[in-house]
Amino acid sequence: MKRDYYEVLGIARTATEVEIKSAYRKLALQYHPDRNPNNPDAEEKFKECSEAYAVLADADKRAAYDRYGHAAVGGSGGGFDGAGIDLNDILSEFLGRGFSDMFGGGRGRGRGQRGADLREDLTLEFEAAVFGTETAIQVRRHETCEECRGTGASPGKAPITCQTCNGHGQVRYQQGFFSMARTCPKCAGAGSVITDPCQKCRGQGRVLRQRTVEVKVPAGVENGTRIRFVGLGEGGVQGGEPGDLYIVLHVKEHAFFDREGNDLHCVVPISFSQASLGAEIKVATLEGEHTLKVPEGTQSGATLRVRGKGVPVLNGRGKGDLFVEVRVQTPSKLNHRQRELLQELDTLSRVENKPQRRTLLGKVRDIFD
Ligand SMILES: [Zn+2]
Ligand SMILES: [Zn+2]
Repeated sequence: MKRDYYEVLGIARTATEVEIKSAYRKLALQYHPDRNPNNPDAEEKFKECSEAYAVLADADKRAAYDRYGHAAVGGSGGGFDGAGIDLNDILSEFLGRGFSDMFGGGRGRGRGQRGADLREDLTLEFEAAVFGTETAIQVRRHETCEECRGTGASPGKAPITCQTCNGHGQVRYQQGFFSMARTCPKCAGAGSVITDPCQKCRGQGRVLRQRTVEVKVPAGVENGTRIRFVGLGEGGVQGGEPGDLYIVLHVKEHAFFDREGNDLHCVVPISFSQASLGAEIKVATLEGEHTLKVPEGTQSGATLRVRGKGVPVLNGRGKGDLFVEVRVQTPSKLNHRQRELLQELDTLSRVENKPQRRTLLGKVRDIFD
Protein backbone atom coordinates (compact mmCIF):
# COMPACT_ATOMS: atom_id res chain seq x y z
CA MET A 1 0.00 0.00 0.00
CA LYS A 2 1.22 3.45 -0.89
CA ARG A 3 1.43 5.94 1.94
CA ASP A 4 -0.60 9.10 1.84
CA TYR A 5 1.45 11.91 0.32
CA TYR A 6 0.63 14.34 3.10
CA GLU A 7 1.70 11.78 5.63
CA VAL A 8 4.94 11.18 3.74
CA LEU A 9 5.82 14.88 3.93
CA GLY A 10 4.46 15.16 7.47
CA ILE A 11 2.13 18.01 6.66
CA ALA A 12 -1.56 18.80 7.03
CA ARG A 13 -3.94 18.44 4.09
CA THR A 14 -4.35 22.20 4.23
CA ALA A 15 -0.61 22.88 3.94
CA THR A 16 0.37 25.89 1.85
CA GLU A 17 2.74 25.76 -1.10
CA VAL A 18 5.52 27.15 1.11
CA GLU A 19 4.91 24.53 3.80
CA ILE A 20 4.99 21.74 1.21
CA LYS A 21 8.24 23.02 -0.19
CA SER A 22 9.96 23.39 3.12
CA ALA A 23 8.81 19.98 4.34
CA TYR A 24 10.14 18.39 1.18
CA ARG A 25 13.48 20.19 1.31
CA LYS A 26 14.10 18.97 4.82
CA LEU A 27 13.36 15.35 3.89
CA ALA A 28 15.15 15.51 0.57
CA LEU A 29 18.32 16.80 2.18
CA GLN A 30 18.12 14.11 4.81
CA TYR A 31 17.55 11.21 2.42
CA HIS A 32 19.25 12.25 -0.79
CA PRO A 33 21.26 9.31 -2.20
CA ASP A 34 24.37 11.46 -2.53
CA ARG A 35 24.37 11.84 1.24
CA ASN A 36 23.42 8.24 1.90
CA PRO A 37 25.51 6.14 -0.44
CA ASN A 38 24.59 2.43 -0.51
CA ASN A 39 21.59 2.92 1.71
CA PRO A 40 18.55 1.48 -0.07
CA ASP A 41 16.31 2.51 2.80
CA ALA A 42 17.23 6.17 2.42
CA GLU A 43 16.85 5.89 -1.33
CA GLU A 44 13.33 4.55 -0.95
CA LYS A 45 12.47 7.36 1.43
CA PHE A 46 13.94 9.88 -0.95
CA LYS A 47 11.90 8.55 -3.84
CA GLU A 48 8.79 8.47 -1.73
CA CYS A 49 9.06 12.07 -0.57
CA SER A 50 10.07 13.26 -4.06
CA GLU A 51 7.03 11.63 -5.55
CA ALA A 52 4.81 13.18 -2.87
CA TYR A 53 6.37 16.56 -3.55
CA ALA A 54 6.07 16.26 -7.33
CA VAL A 55 2.35 15.75 -6.91
CA LEU A 56 1.53 18.15 -4.09
CA ALA A 57 3.63 21.00 -5.48
CA ASP A 58 1.60 20.99 -8.68
CA ALA A 59 -1.81 22.56 -8.13
CA ASP A 60 -3.52 20.43 -10.79
CA LYS A 61 -2.01 17.17 -9.63
CA ARG A 62 -2.70 18.02 -6.02
CA ALA A 63 -6.36 18.68 -6.77
CA ALA A 64 -6.62 15.39 -8.65
CA TYR A 65 -4.90 13.55 -5.82
CA ASP A 66 -7.18 15.13 -3.22
CA ARG A 67 -10.21 13.93 -5.14
CA TYR A 68 -9.17 10.54 -6.41
CA GLY A 69 -6.09 9.51 -4.47
CA HIS A 70 -3.06 7.75 -5.86
CA ALA A 71 -4.92 6.35 -8.84
CA ALA A 72 -5.41 9.84 -10.24
CA VAL A 73 -1.78 10.87 -10.32
CA GLY A 74 0.40 7.80 -10.45
CA GLY A 75 -1.46 5.86 -13.06
CA SER A 76 -0.14 2.35 -12.97
CA GLY A 77 2.89 0.80 -14.47
CA GLY A 78 5.41 3.59 -14.80
CA GLY A 79 5.69 4.79 -11.28
CA PHE A 80 7.81 7.72 -10.29
CA ASP A 81 11.53 7.87 -10.27
CA GLY A 82 12.90 10.29 -7.75
CA ALA A 83 16.35 10.02 -9.23
CA GLY A 84 17.33 12.85 -11.48
CA ILE A 85 16.65 15.30 -8.69
CA ASP A 86 19.89 17.06 -8.06
CA LEU A 87 21.05 17.77 -4.56
CA ASN A 88 22.52 21.01 -5.82
CA ASP A 89 19.11 22.12 -6.97
CA ILE A 90 17.62 21.43 -3.59
CA LEU A 91 20.52 23.18 -1.86
CA SER A 92 20.45 26.20 -4.08
CA GLU A 93 16.72 26.52 -3.62
CA PHE A 94 17.18 25.97 0.09
CA LEU A 95 19.85 28.61 0.41
CA GLY A 96 18.15 31.18 -1.72
CA ARG A 97 18.17 32.33 -5.26
CA GLY A 98 20.56 30.63 -7.60
CA PHE A 99 23.33 32.67 -9.11
CA SER A 100 21.85 32.65 -12.57
CA ASP A 101 18.67 34.28 -11.30
CA MET A 102 20.59 37.47 -10.80
CA PHE A 103 21.04 37.70 -14.54
CA GLY A 104 17.38 37.20 -15.04
CA GLY A 105 16.83 33.89 -16.68
CA GLY A 106 19.57 31.59 -17.78
CA ARG A 107 18.96 28.20 -16.39
CA GLY A 108 16.84 29.66 -13.62
CA ARG A 109 15.20 27.65 -10.92
CA GLY A 110 14.18 24.09 -11.40
CA ARG A 111 16.95 23.36 -13.83
CA GLY A 112 16.14 20.79 -16.42
CA GLN A 113 13.42 20.49 -18.94
CA ARG A 114 10.04 18.94 -18.44
CA GLY A 115 9.55 15.83 -20.54
CA ALA A 116 7.20 16.01 -23.51
CA ASP A 117 3.63 14.77 -23.27
CA LEU A 118 2.91 11.55 -25.09
CA ARG A 119 -0.22 10.57 -26.96
CA GLU A 120 -1.43 7.06 -27.62
CA ASP A 121 -4.59 6.06 -29.43
CA LEU A 122 -6.84 3.29 -28.27
CA THR A 123 -9.69 1.87 -30.31
CA LEU A 124 -12.61 0.44 -28.36
CA GLU A 125 -15.57 -1.70 -29.27
CA PHE A 126 -18.87 0.10 -28.88
CA GLU A 127 -19.84 -1.99 -25.85
CA ALA A 128 -16.47 -1.45 -24.17
CA ALA A 129 -17.06 2.31 -24.27
CA VAL A 130 -20.53 1.88 -22.83
CA PHE A 131 -19.67 -0.51 -20.01
CA GLY A 132 -16.02 0.40 -19.44
CA THR A 133 -13.11 -1.95 -19.77
CA GLU A 134 -9.60 -2.62 -18.64
CA THR A 135 -6.78 -3.08 -21.03
CA ALA A 136 -3.05 -2.60 -21.27
CA ILE A 137 -1.12 -0.72 -23.89
CA GLN A 138 2.54 -0.56 -24.72
CA VAL A 139 4.13 2.86 -24.51
CA ARG A 140 7.65 3.72 -25.60
CA ARG A 141 9.03 6.52 -23.51
CA HIS A 142 12.34 8.04 -22.56
CA GLU A 143 12.96 7.48 -18.88
CA THR A 144 15.58 8.85 -16.56
CA CYS A 145 18.63 6.61 -16.80
CA GLU A 146 18.93 4.60 -13.60
CA GLU A 147 22.63 4.07 -14.05
CA CYS A 148 23.53 7.76 -13.84
CA ARG A 149 20.29 9.07 -12.30
CA GLY A 150 19.84 11.26 -15.30
CA THR A 151 23.09 13.14 -14.98
CA GLY A 152 24.54 11.54 -18.09
CA ALA A 153 27.84 11.05 -16.29
CA SER A 154 29.40 7.69 -15.56
CA PRO A 155 28.49 6.57 -12.00
CA GLY A 156 30.98 7.87 -9.47
CA LYS A 157 32.26 10.40 -11.99
CA ALA A 158 30.01 13.32 -11.41
CA PRO A 159 29.93 16.03 -14.03
CA ILE A 160 32.62 18.55 -13.36
CA THR A 161 32.02 22.24 -13.01
CA CYS A 162 32.32 23.98 -16.33
CA GLN A 163 35.63 25.82 -16.52
CA THR A 164 34.43 28.40 -18.99
CA CYS A 165 31.61 29.76 -16.84
CA ASN A 166 32.65 28.45 -13.42
CA GLY A 167 29.37 26.62 -13.16
CA HIS A 168 27.17 29.65 -13.62
CA GLY A 169 25.89 28.53 -16.97
CA GLN A 170 26.42 32.01 -18.30
CA VAL A 171 29.43 34.01 -19.30
CA ARG A 172 29.75 37.76 -18.94
CA TYR A 173 31.20 39.99 -21.58
CA GLN A 174 31.66 43.68 -22.05
CA GLN A 175 29.58 45.60 -24.54
CA GLY A 176 30.22 49.30 -24.46
CA PHE A 177 29.63 50.36 -20.88
CA PHE A 178 27.51 47.35 -20.10
CA SER A 179 28.45 44.04 -18.71
CA MET A 180 26.26 41.46 -20.48
CA ALA A 181 25.60 37.80 -19.84
CA ARG A 182 24.94 35.06 -22.31
CA THR A 183 24.54 31.30 -22.18
CA CYS A 184 27.85 29.55 -21.80
CA PRO A 185 28.87 28.07 -25.18
CA LYS A 186 30.79 25.20 -23.62
CA CYS A 187 28.13 23.70 -21.35
CA ALA A 188 25.04 25.18 -23.04
CA GLY A 189 23.95 26.69 -19.74
CA ALA A 190 24.12 23.50 -17.68
CA GLY A 191 27.02 24.79 -15.59
CA SER A 192 28.71 21.43 -15.70
CA VAL A 193 30.33 19.25 -18.31
CA ILE A 194 30.44 15.50 -18.55
CA THR A 195 33.94 14.16 -19.00
CA ASP A 196 33.08 10.50 -18.71
CA PRO A 197 29.64 9.86 -20.20
CA CYS A 198 27.40 7.14 -18.78
CA GLN A 199 27.71 3.93 -20.84
CA LYS A 200 24.07 3.01 -20.59
CA CYS A 201 22.55 6.22 -21.91
CA ARG A 202 25.61 7.51 -23.77
CA GLY A 203 25.50 10.67 -21.70
CA GLN A 204 21.90 11.46 -22.59
CA GLY A 205 20.60 10.94 -19.07
CA ARG A 206 17.57 9.12 -20.48
CA VAL A 207 16.96 5.74 -22.02
CA LEU A 208 14.18 4.54 -24.30
CA ARG A 209 11.95 2.03 -22.54
CA GLN A 210 8.88 0.12 -23.42
CA ARG A 211 6.34 0.22 -20.64
CA THR A 212 3.05 -1.54 -20.19
CA VAL A 213 0.43 0.92 -19.03
CA GLU A 214 -2.75 -0.51 -17.61
CA VAL A 215 -5.69 1.54 -18.75
CA LYS A 216 -8.94 1.51 -16.86
CA VAL A 217 -11.56 2.88 -19.22
CA PRO A 218 -14.57 4.09 -17.22
CA ALA A 219 -18.09 3.31 -18.39
CA GLY A 220 -19.67 5.94 -20.62
CA VAL A 221 -16.62 7.26 -22.49
CA GLU A 222 -17.13 8.66 -25.96
CA ASN A 223 -15.25 8.89 -29.18
CA GLY A 224 -12.47 11.41 -28.54
CA THR A 225 -12.44 11.10 -24.74
CA ARG A 226 -8.91 11.56 -23.40
CA ILE A 227 -7.53 9.83 -20.34
CA ARG A 228 -4.58 11.55 -18.71
CA PHE A 229 -1.80 9.75 -16.87
CA VAL A 230 0.23 12.25 -14.92
CA GLY A 231 3.96 11.66 -15.15
CA LEU A 232 3.83 8.81 -17.65
CA GLY A 233 4.99 10.90 -20.60
CA GLU A 234 8.59 11.38 -21.62
CA GLY A 235 11.04 11.61 -18.74
CA GLY A 236 12.43 15.04 -17.93
CA VAL A 237 15.88 16.11 -19.01
CA GLN A 238 18.49 16.88 -16.35
CA GLY A 239 16.13 16.59 -13.42
CA GLY A 240 13.10 18.08 -15.14
CA GLU A 241 9.81 16.47 -14.33
CA PRO A 242 8.23 13.95 -16.67
CA GLY A 243 5.49 14.87 -19.11
CA ASP A 244 2.04 13.34 -19.09
CA LEU A 245 0.57 10.54 -21.15
CA TYR A 246 -2.73 11.08 -22.91
CA ILE A 247 -4.72 8.17 -24.23
CA VAL A 248 -7.20 9.21 -26.87
CA LEU A 249 -10.15 6.87 -27.27
CA HIS A 250 -11.73 5.92 -30.57
CA VAL A 251 -15.04 4.12 -30.36
CA LYS A 252 -16.19 1.78 -33.14
CA GLU A 253 -19.67 2.10 -34.56
CA HIS A 254 -22.38 -0.38 -33.65
CA ALA A 255 -24.30 -2.30 -36.30
CA PHE A 256 -27.64 -1.73 -34.61
CA PHE A 257 -27.39 1.21 -32.20
CA ASP A 258 -26.60 4.85 -32.78
CA ARG A 259 -25.39 6.77 -29.81
CA GLU A 260 -26.26 10.36 -28.99
CA GLY A 261 -24.66 11.42 -25.74
CA ASN A 262 -25.95 8.92 -23.23
CA ASP A 263 -28.95 7.86 -25.28
CA LEU A 264 -29.13 5.03 -27.76
CA HIS A 265 -31.28 4.95 -30.86
CA CYS A 266 -32.37 2.03 -32.97
CA VAL A 267 -34.95 1.18 -35.61
CA VAL A 268 -37.24 -1.85 -35.29
CA PRO A 269 -39.66 -3.09 -37.97
CA ILE A 270 -43.17 -4.08 -36.85
CA SER A 271 -46.04 -5.52 -38.82
CA PHE A 272 -49.11 -3.62 -39.92
CA SER A 273 -51.32 -5.58 -37.53
CA GLN A 274 -48.90 -5.21 -34.59
CA ALA A 275 -48.98 -1.46 -35.12
CA SER A 276 -52.73 -1.43 -35.43
CA LEU A 277 -53.70 -3.87 -32.70
CA GLY A 278 -50.82 -3.20 -30.34
CA ALA A 279 -48.29 -5.86 -29.40
CA GLU A 280 -45.46 -6.85 -27.17
CA ILE A 281 -42.25 -7.16 -29.15
CA LYS A 282 -38.75 -8.21 -28.18
CA VAL A 283 -36.07 -5.59 -28.80
CA ALA A 284 -32.37 -5.97 -28.30
CA THR A 285 -30.68 -3.70 -25.78
CA LEU A 286 -27.00 -3.68 -24.86
CA GLU A 287 -27.95 -5.64 -21.75
CA GLY A 288 -29.99 -8.32 -23.48
CA GLU A 289 -33.54 -8.62 -24.73
CA HIS A 290 -36.24 -6.31 -23.52
CA THR A 291 -39.98 -6.68 -23.99
CA LEU A 292 -41.41 -3.52 -25.42
CA LYS A 293 -45.09 -2.73 -25.44
CA VAL A 294 -46.24 -1.24 -28.73
CA PRO A 295 -49.48 0.59 -28.01
CA GLU A 296 -52.56 0.06 -30.13
CA GLY A 297 -52.67 2.35 -33.15
CA THR A 298 -48.94 3.11 -33.26
CA GLN A 299 -47.93 5.02 -36.38
CA SER A 300 -44.89 4.17 -38.46
CA GLY A 301 -41.96 6.31 -37.36
CA ALA A 302 -43.20 6.64 -33.79
CA THR A 303 -40.45 6.53 -31.20
CA LEU A 304 -40.87 4.50 -28.03
CA ARG A 305 -38.66 5.14 -25.05
CA VAL A 306 -37.08 2.49 -22.87
CA ARG A 307 -35.82 4.24 -19.77
CA GLY A 308 -32.41 3.41 -18.35
CA LYS A 309 -31.27 1.18 -21.19
CA GLY A 310 -28.84 3.71 -22.60
CA VAL A 311 -25.24 4.54 -21.75
CA PRO A 312 -24.05 5.15 -18.16
CA VAL A 313 -23.18 8.77 -17.38
CA LEU A 314 -19.38 9.11 -17.33
CA ASN A 315 -18.13 9.63 -13.76
CA GLY A 316 -21.68 10.13 -12.63
CA ARG A 317 -24.87 8.38 -11.78
CA GLY A 318 -27.66 7.05 -13.91
CA LYS A 319 -27.96 6.06 -17.51
CA GLY A 320 -29.42 7.43 -20.68
CA ASP A 321 -32.45 5.94 -22.42
CA LEU A 322 -32.99 3.74 -25.42
CA PHE A 323 -35.21 5.19 -28.14
CA VAL A 324 -36.82 2.65 -30.42
CA GLU A 325 -38.21 3.95 -33.68
CA VAL A 326 -40.83 1.55 -35.02
CA ARG A 327 -41.31 1.28 -38.76
CA VAL A 328 -44.46 -0.35 -40.01
CA GLN A 329 -43.85 -2.84 -42.78
CA THR A 330 -46.50 -2.47 -45.43
CA PRO A 331 -47.78 -5.95 -46.40
CA SER A 332 -46.80 -6.83 -49.95
CA LYS A 333 -46.99 -9.80 -52.36
CA LEU A 334 -50.48 -10.57 -51.13
CA ASN A 335 -52.38 -13.63 -52.24
CA HIS A 336 -56.01 -13.52 -53.31
CA ARG A 337 -57.49 -14.16 -49.86
CA GLN A 338 -55.28 -11.55 -48.14
CA ARG A 339 -56.18 -9.04 -50.83
CA GLU A 340 -59.87 -9.68 -50.25
CA LEU A 341 -59.56 -9.22 -46.51
CA LEU A 342 -57.68 -5.96 -46.85
CA GLN A 343 -60.20 -4.65 -49.35
CA GLU A 344 -62.98 -5.57 -46.97
CA LEU A 345 -61.14 -3.84 -44.14
CA ASP A 346 -60.80 -0.75 -46.27
CA THR A 347 -64.51 -0.57 -47.08
CA LEU A 348 -65.29 -0.98 -43.37
CA SER A 349 -62.79 1.68 -42.29
CA ARG A 350 -64.21 4.93 -41.10
CA VAL A 351 -62.55 8.26 -40.75
CA GLU A 352 -61.78 7.77 -37.04
CA ASN A 353 -59.63 4.75 -37.97
CA LYS A 354 -57.28 7.07 -39.90
CA PRO A 355 -55.70 9.49 -37.49
CA GLN A 356 -53.80 11.54 -40.06
CA ARG A 357 -56.77 11.90 -42.40
CA ARG A 358 -58.88 12.78 -39.39
CA THR A 359 -56.61 15.64 -38.39
CA LEU A 360 -56.40 16.78 -41.99
CA LEU A 361 -60.19 16.91 -42.23
CA GLY A 362 -60.27 18.78 -38.92
CA LYS A 363 -57.93 21.40 -40.34
CA VAL A 364 -59.98 21.78 -43.50
CA ARG A 365 -63.09 22.23 -41.37
CA ASP A 366 -61.28 24.85 -39.26
CA ILE A 367 -60.58 26.87 -42.39
CA PHE A 368 -64.22 26.86 -43.57
CA ASP A 369 -65.81 27.36 -40.16
ZN1 LIG B 1 22.97 7.17 -17.88
ZN1 LIG C 1 29.75 26.60 -18.88
